[in-house]
Amino acid sequence: MDVKKYVRDVKDFPKEGIIFKDITPVLSNPEVFKFVIDGMIEDIKDWNFDTIIGPEARGFIFAAPLAYKMGKKFVPVRKPGKLPYKKISASYDLEYGSATLEMHIDAIEKGERVIIVDDVLATGGTTAAIVELVKKAGGIVEGVYNFAELSFLNPREKLNDIKVGSLIEY
Ligand code: AMP
Repeated sequence: MDVKKYVRDVKDFPKEGIIFKDITPVLSNPEVFKFVIDGMIEDIKDWNFDTIIGPEARGFIFAAPLAYKMGKKFVPVRKPGKLPYKKISASYDLEYGSATLEMHIDAIEKGERVIIVDDVLATGGTTAAIVELVKKAGGIVEGVYNFAELSFLNPREKLNDIKVGSLIEY
């Protein structure tokens, strides 16, 4: 299946010069969404991890079904002020603007192996900030896996020696 057919390019959203990868056509077609989730699982089935971290908001869409189907723990990473309990935080630059992400202080145990799953890996800033959160908590990043990767923005440069995979690449 040509999954890219179901990703809509929206020019100049949310800012001029950005071509936004709109995944809603994937989500509105159950066959395509199932194909995507199953394909993502197939790609990471041999990775060694206990936990999947998904960042708000579109990361949740992919990370939670993967955690459910693979029988793994799910940890949400959220924008400031959303998580109710004690938190740790990390700030980062985005393809458009800058931001801070938070995770519950007890979300990950020392030595826990985690992967980070998001919809789009663009500059890699978001993922690098989550790697920092995992390290602060004493966890080990097994790898990073995305629905789509914008290779032309060179996100892997920000992620050094971390294993990176993606279902589709641009
Ligand atoms: P980055 O930190 O630059 O890797 O950006 C990744 C985050 O921003 C992801 O959570 C994406 O949802 C979102 N994002 C960045 N650029 C785009 C884009 N061109 N299309 C869709 N989402 C994007």
